[in-house]
Amino acid sequence: MTTVRIHPAVDNGVKPGRPGFAGGTLRCSCTTDPVEVEIATDCLHNHVCGCTKCWKPEGAIFSMVSVVPSDKVTVTRNGHKLKVVDPSALIQRHACTACGVHMHGPVTRENHPFTGLSFIHTERSDEEGWSPPTFAAFVSSVIEGGTRPEAMEGIRARLNELGLPPYDALSPGLMDYIATFTARASGVLKD
Ligand SMILES: [Zn+2]
Ligand SMILES: [Zn+2]
Repeated sequence: MTTVRIHPAVDNGVKPGRPGFAGGTLRCSCTTDPVEVEIATDCLHNHVCGCTKCWKPEGAIFSMVSVVPSDKVTVTRNGHKLKVVDPSALIQRHACTACGVHMHGPVTRENHPFTGLSFIHTERSDEEGWSPPTFAAFVSSVIEGGTRPEAMEGIRARLNELGLPPYDALSPGLMDYIATFTARASGVLKD
């Protein structure tokens, strides 16, 4: 056992999901008038992410982030508190202007492989049974977030121990998905 901390949702072991889980309500951390977002489905491609853009809880090195089809996402309470963090970014991360939690991040850019998907943080929901994270993305980027380079070996070892294979981009499956989309769009791949 190492003492390397990755994210509170996985530090005591990755909890399994529940078959047939149908979604839940994400809530920001405001104690009054919290923003609520209903997700009417389980998540896909859940993972921990080391990039500097995804929202992380206080003290975590990684975020935990997944996607759902954007038509399954409904802001149900206090949506007026949301603002897009960076309108020029691919992921339109909608953050609560009071507490800073990112509530949903749709991809709306035309002809992108992720168009129609929204990025969410399932830890903001009280319901249990979400599909658990299965890999770690953009692991080397935690150095850009302030982690010492010499800590990386221990971080990668801990991720492997948790069953979250570390990658320095997305997982091979998602990288292949993106490349397939691009090859079809350019005509290299005909079917
Ligand atoms: Zn809030
Ligand atoms: Zn990220």
